[in-house]
Amino acid sequence: MSLHKPNISFEFFPTQTDQGKEKLLTTFDELNTLAPKYFSVTYGAGGSTRTRTLDIVDSLCERSDTPIAPHLSCIGDSKAQIAELLDRYKAQGIQRLVALRGDLPSGQVGMGELPFALDLVKFIRDYSGDHFQIEVAAYPEMHPQARSFEFDISNLVNKFNAGANTAITQFFYNADSYLYLRDAVEKKGIDTEAHPLVAGIMPIINASNLIRFADSCGADIPRYIRRQLADYGDDSKAIRQFGFEVVLQLCERLIKEGVPAIHFYSMNKVQPNKRLVEALGL
Ligand code: FAD
Repeated sequence: MSLHKPNISFEFFPTQTDQGKEKLLTTFDELNTLAPKYFSVTYGAGGSTRTRTLDIVDSLCERSDTPIAPHLSCIGDSKAQIAELLDRYKAQGIQRLVALRGDLPSGQVGMGELPFALDLVKFIRDYSGDHFQIEVAAYPEMHPQARSFEFDISNLVNKFNAGANTAITQFFYNADSYLYLRDAVEKKGIDTEAHPLVAGIMPIINASNLIRFADSCGADIPRYIRRQLADYGDDSKAIRQFGFEVVLQLCERLIKEGVPAIHFYSMNKVQPNKRLVEALGL
């Protein structure tokens, strides 16, 4: 039986230095040979990476015809600042955005005029009509600040109903959590063929960073993974090999279950992502 082939996309974060940017452009060229549907570029909440995000978006747009999807996070920004970005992206020919609330950098207070991603989705639709394809965030293991799982699922449904086209999940290593979320939004009336739930996949490259990041964003690292990462200690080659096998199995299961697309949290790296895409035959 031949399995369907989900689309792939890659996420980048803006780099701090010119040297880092040069490296990112080379990474882009290499990942671009895998024919992704688009690349996305993160945006620090409160505008903390505005200049660097715009700079990377400009450079990637100039470099190839592969679509670029800037992230836009609304917390702490004014409507005027968001409108300015929407005008700029529209003029540049950008047609896809990832619309998020974001997390305020420590010390910054004030939620701004658009406190939640739902407000941002509504604002984009009011301001730019149907110009942009809007992606939003989804949480198979619940957003860490959500008042309940049920509330968080309804929040995702509300984002779809307000005009979001697609959702990309937070990373996860338990396929059942993704399948549960997909069933849950369908039960609330969302047609997941029209509004696909894209699996956000984080390759395992470095144990301590992964665990710190997972703890902060509420993603679960199952015990069998945590324990083995701990056992490998500083053996980065063993960690990468184990991580590759775990994530490959996860993606294979998701593909069997009909996942429409896979969005790789690339960590601005070529090899771990390319290896997975090639092993999956995508
Ligand atoms: P929302 O959908 O607004 O939800 C945030 C929380 O508020 C949830 O707990 C929700 O249940 C709750 N909530 C919603 N409405 C209400 C309400 N009316 N009253 C009370 N609670 C409510 N962050 C960045 O800063 N920049 C990025 O580029 C970025 N990219 C990301 C890409 C993806 C694919 C994902 C999954 C996350 C990304 N993040 C990024 C992180 C994201 O911004 C954080 O997870 C953030 O805490 C929540 O954003 P959201 O869009 O899910 O917010």
